[in-house]
Order: sequence, then structure tokens, then C-alpha cells
Amino acid sequence: MLNRRITLAALALMLAGGIASAQKQKKIPVAPDAGPKEQDIQLGQKLAQQVEQQMYVVPNKELTDYINRVGKRLVATGMLDTDFPYSFKVVQEKSLNAFALPGGPMFVHTGLIAAAENEAQLAGVLAHELSHVSLRHGIANSSKQQTAAGIGQVAGAVLGGLLGGGLGQLAQAGAAMAGQSFAMKYSRSAEADADLLGAYTMAKAGYNPLELGRFFEKLEAEAGGDPGKVAEFFSSHPNPGNRTKMIEEQMRFMTPGPYTTQMGNLAAMKKIVASLPPSPKAKEGPRATLAPAGGAMPASFPTSRNMTALTTPSFSISHPDNWQPAKSQQGGLTITPEGGLVEGGIGAGMMMGGFAPRRARDLRGATEELVQGFVQNGQMTVTQQAQQIEVDGQPAIMVHLSGPSPYQNQREKDVLITLPLRGQVLYMVFVAPESRFGELEPMFKEMVRSFRAARR
Ligand code: ZN
Repeated sequence: MLNRRITLAALALMLAGGIASAQKQKKIPVAPDAGPKEQDIQLGQKLAQQVEQQMYVVPNKELTDYINRVGKRLVATGMLDTDFPYSFKVVQEKSLNAFALPGGPMFVHTGLIAAAENEAQLAGVLAHELSHVSLRHGIANSSKQQTAAGIGQVAGAVLGGLLGGGLGQLAQAGAAMAGQSFAMKYSRSAEADADLLGAYTMAKAGYNPLELGRFFEKLEAEAGGDPGKVAEFFSSHPNPGNRTKMIEEQMRFMTPGPYTTQMGNLAAMKKIVASLPPSPKAKEGPRATLAPAGGAMPASFPTSRNMTALTTPSFSISHPDNWQPAKSQQGGLTITPEGGLVEGGIGAGMMMGGFAPRRARDLRGATEELVQGFVQNGQMTVTQQAQQIEVDGQPAIMVHLSGPSPYQNQREKDVLITLPLRGQVLYMVFVAPESRFGELEPMFKEMVRSFRAARR
């Protein structure tokens, strides 16, 4: 009896010690030297305009009111910097993402609403994003030069959102880079800070803060099944380690419960999302038919001699008039012959995207970064090192790669071309099964020759 009591006491002491060491309240630093807040607001508003041109803001009032109620409940806690005019809109995008621009404009993908198990999970993503805004992570360290880089990065990211993609073996490997889209790439420490401030905000709003960590971890676990759908999110928000555990350890410093996971009628919102007509923006390009992955390679890739031009605000490029331009679910742009677009990939044709390099200062370095992203998963290999070429009279870089083709028992050849465009890097990848590359190569060359950057 006595022994047992001692053991229990010792155990209690050990536990107390263990908890005490984890009990330290973590500090959440605001990005130092972030400059005047007005700068965040102006940049965010400019970018929000671009977002609204490129993505379809769902005009459904119930849905917009709902996301505003959740967002404003978080803002009303006073945990976030109240100098920023936070706003909330729903965009019709199937990928699981949400992003907040500097100064507060926030966009939530319909895919995220469809995936959330409860309102607290949705609130968790909102709270996390709002915390990045509040802590000024997107604008961090803004000396004048760095601010310019930051703006360029975000603007390029917007281009990435328009064009960046996740198609093909190549694109899947590069999705994490190409799909960087709107968001800045946050550091792991910024991630941990946004989790923590997000959790404090949730707790004060009455949401169970653990749902933030749980939802992120669930998304990451599911990413194995369909990486394209969440690649964008996790490339912007790298996993800082055990999110749920960290929040759990800090919960004693947060507003105590009881917490709830469900406030509004998320189920009704999911119904609205499910019944939305196709986004008019997605309809801009005709939807190409998808061949099943792993199927036989088509006998031919019909290629007309008549060319037609695809013109965007940033550039134009010509392609055979029987090849179809299409926007991928992830926002990528592909131009493919019949049979060239395969479920989850591109077997023949071209894809393009915008790329904001992480570190590189010049095109060569940026190309290396991009290629590294492609070869990272071990399936792609470089078959011809970077060569300088000219596209539209400007220096560009070409790299040849090889990898598995989405067609049965085929390998593919990929020619990657990178060029600077509006301070960012535009990449084009021409893809065909190795045995058929020669057949399509003259057309690929003609497309490259036709490329023109928009002159301002
Ligand atoms: Zn984040």
C-alpha cells in the first residue's frame, strides 16, 4: 500500500515535471522591420484585383455570408492585428486551399469547404491564414529591395496561379513548385507561429483549437492519394512538425473551453458548393477529353497545319488549331492534341506555368531549382544539361528530361524551356512518348518560335 502510494506520488511528480517543461508559453513574434502597414494593405488590394480577374468569386450570398460570419468571429476576438481590413470571399476552385493576401483580403476555395469535417476545421485554416497576415509574414523583412522582391514574388505567384499546374509526371513532381500560386512561401517557424496565433484566436472565438492541427494533418495524410489537390497549400505552408501536439501543449495558455466544432450550418454550405454550376472561368477554354491513365498510347496525335494563337495578358503563343488549350484543376495551362491529355497527366503536348524561385537570382539558378523539383521524386532524370537558347529574342534556357509516360509501358521525353517574364520565370514543357517525340518535334519548335511576351 505504502509502496504503491510512493509510486503514485513519484509518478505524479514526474508527470508534473514533464508537463512543466512543456508548459512554457511560446512567444509569437511579429515579422520585424515590416515597414508601414499601409504597404501591406495596398499590395494586398492590388493582388486581390488580379485574383478576382483570374479566379471565379462565387456570387452566392448564403455562402459569402457564411464565410464572413466565420471570418469575422475570428477577427472579433481581437487576437489579430485589428489595423488590417480583413475580408472574405469564396472562389470556385476544386483544390484544397485558402489564401490571405497581405493586409487582409482572404479567398477560400470551394474545395476546402467541401473537405472540412466541421466548422472548426474551416475556421482553423482561416485563423492560420489570418495569422500570417497579422504577423506580416508575407511582407517580412521589407527593406526596399526585399519589398520589391516580395511584390515580384507574389505577382509571379499570381501568374503561377493562372498557369502553374500539376499535370503530367513532370508536373506532378513540380506541382509543389509550380503551384506556389498566390501565397508567399512561409518558413517553418512562420508556420509554427501562424498555427499558434491561429489556435489562440480559435480558442477565444470558442472553436476547438486542436481542429486546426487535426485538419492540416488530415490534409497532409491524404495528400499521398491526390497530391495535386493539396500541393499548392503545403508548398506555401510547410509542415513545421507535430502541429496538433504543439497546440495541445500550449492550450493551457489559451481561453479555456468548452469549445465547439460546429457553429453555423456547414452541411448546408457543402450542399451549395456541390450544386454550384461550373465556374464560368473554367469554361474559358474548352474542356479536353481525358484518356484513362495507364492506357495504350494513341495510334496518332492529330496535328493540324493551321495555327491559331492563344493570347493572355502576359504573352501569346500559336498552336495547331486542333490542339486544345485547357486549364487544369490546379490552374495549369496545357495545349494538347487529341489523346494527349491523360487522367492525372499529360502524355503528349505542352504545359506551361509561372514559377517564383525560392532563392535563385538569375534564370539559370531558377531553372536549376525547377529541375531539382522535377527530379526530386527519383522518377525523372536530366538527359541533357541546361543550354542557353533564344526565345522571342531573349535569352532562355533549355533542359531535356526523361521520365515515365502516363501511357502503358512508355517512357516520355520532356523538353523544358524557361524564360524570364515580367520579373518571374515562365516555363514551358513539351512532352511526348520517347518513340513519338520526333513526330511532334517540328510542331513543338514552331510553337516556341511563335512565343511573344506582351510588350508594355
Ligand atoms: Zn501557413
